[in-house]
Amino acid sequence: MTIGFDVITIFPEIFHAYLSESILKRAMQNEFLDVKVYNLRDFTTDRHKTVDDYPYGGGAGMVMKAEPIYNAVQAIKTDALERLIVMLSPQGKRYNQTMAETMSQEKRRILFICGRYEGIDERVRECVVDEEISVGDYVLTGGELAALVIIDSITRLIPGVLGSKESTKEESFSWGILDYPHYTRPPKFNEIKVPDVLLSGNHKEISKWRRREAIKRTLLKRPDLIEESKLDRDDYDILDELRRCSLG
Ligand code: SAM
Repeated sequence: MTIGFDVITIFPEIFHAYLSESILKRAMQNEFLDVKVYNLRDFTTDRHKTVDDYPYGGGAGMVMKAEPIYNAVQAIKTDALERLIVMLSPQGKRYNQTMAETMSQEKRRILFICGRYEGIDERVRECVVDEEISVGDYVLTGGELAALVIIDSITRLIPGVLGSKESTKEESFSWGILDYPHYTRPPKFNEIKVPDVLLSGNHKEISKWRRREAIKRTLLKRPDLIEESKLDRDDYDILDELRRCSLG
């Protein structure tokens, strides 16, 4: 399976830098991932390749013009492939792992429109956008990092992208809770020992310990996740015990 993305940006190099390293580079080489990056300035019609203009009504900053973005989307769509058109925006639906999982099943290409300056002329959202996505409740200088966050988190869910040693099955949010703690050599560092169970070779006990630690740290760090998580009966027993311990 290949997941395909298109990106409209005024800073294509940001994508080339990130996509030419590590797992995403390998995913592209192995054709699990296809990313086409378009420079918005190539879709302008004036000599200066203008992509922004002053805001109607006054105020600070510049606004990204509608026409170049509209022209870019129309030009990209001439290949007649189906596309989900996403505008990155702090006002969009807040991105999470469940959305990453849903989008990783997407058969259409996903086209990202990256804003800059004070944002994008509202008519772009009205005329071409299917979804508006935010990567969190904070404001970035541009949509490029947000697009890369989404591309990265979706790509690693595509079967075959991660090696057998790197699994997405047992990590934060995959059960709706946080990941368990990880250790590697040496067995003792700064007087802190690796928990004995991890050195025991007893896989059943290791698995039980990891599950308990995952629930414990979720309870401590992100109790809000517990309600929505996919815990089973054994997990609820662990949870009850942990809650009793913390109360006692
Ligand atoms: N004036 C806009 C507002 O307050 O909603 C913020 C504009 S921001 C400086 C410029 C661009 O960065 C946005 O058009 C968007 O593409 C991107 N951006 C900023 N924060 C983002 C976030 N949390 N998620 C996704 N994209 C974001």
